[in-house]
Amino acid sequence: MAIDAAAYRLILQDLSGRNVTLVAVSKTKPVTDIEQLYSLGQRDFGENYVQELTEKQPQLPGDIRWHFIGHLQSNKVKYIAPFVHMIHGVDSLNLLKEIQKQAAKNNRTIDCLLQVHVATEETKFGLDEEELNSLVQHISQHRDDFRNLRIRGLMGMASFTDNTSQVRAEFKTIKKLFSQTQPQLSSLYAFDTLSMGMSGDYAIAIEEGTTLVRIGSLLFGKR
Ligand SMILES: *Cc1c(COP(=O)(O)O)cnc(C)c1O
Repeated sequence: MAIDAAAYRLILQDLSGRNVTLVAVSKTKPVTDIEQLYSLGQRDFGENYVQELTEKQPQLPGDIRWHFIGHLQSNKVKYIAPFVHMIHGVDSLNLLKEIQKQAAKNNRTIDCLLQVHVATEETKFGLDEEELNSLVQHISQHRDDFRNLRIRGLMGMASFTDNTSQVRAEFKTIKKLFSQTQPQLSSLYAFDTLSMGMSGDYAIAIEEGTTLVRIGSLLFGKR
């Protein structure tokens, strides 16, 4: 197994000068693959499963910034809270409260993204516009309850489709929600992170204003 170093360089070229962060999504891939990409300079890695992440993390360099990008169950937050850098999939107040509790226990500040749902697939997690607005309102009115968190922005996924105009329209919707939310939270945190775009659609996401792309299979091969 080997990573695609040429693809890595091409992606970095696409991102350079645009202030877009690359998160290399290493789920299901062995630590040796992660070490290879690390040796080329990559520091941000994304994982979807708590158990897999907690097994890999101690085997790898301590300066890796781990992004949790999967669906996170409240009862598992405690396992990643000691080291996780950013949690992308926050989609409920309950989860947010648990992340706060575990971050405080570990004396840490954890960056979070609120996940919005715009794709047509029923199965994708996330908040609709109304749910987003009420969660954001709650956060801004209860600032002191969330001292150990920084809500840094939004995360979203487009539908899994070849229809690029649909993908683009969905990214535009996520960007619009981001712009609407920003004024409500930007006095509390740097609300500056928009996480959208994967292997198949990251170029469109960049055109639509993303600040972070989550790329797996282009770098590590098919899962
Ligand atoms: C797996 C995954 C990715 C990476 O997908 P690729 O198509 O392999 O680039 C990005 N984001 C999330 C939320 C994922 O689950």
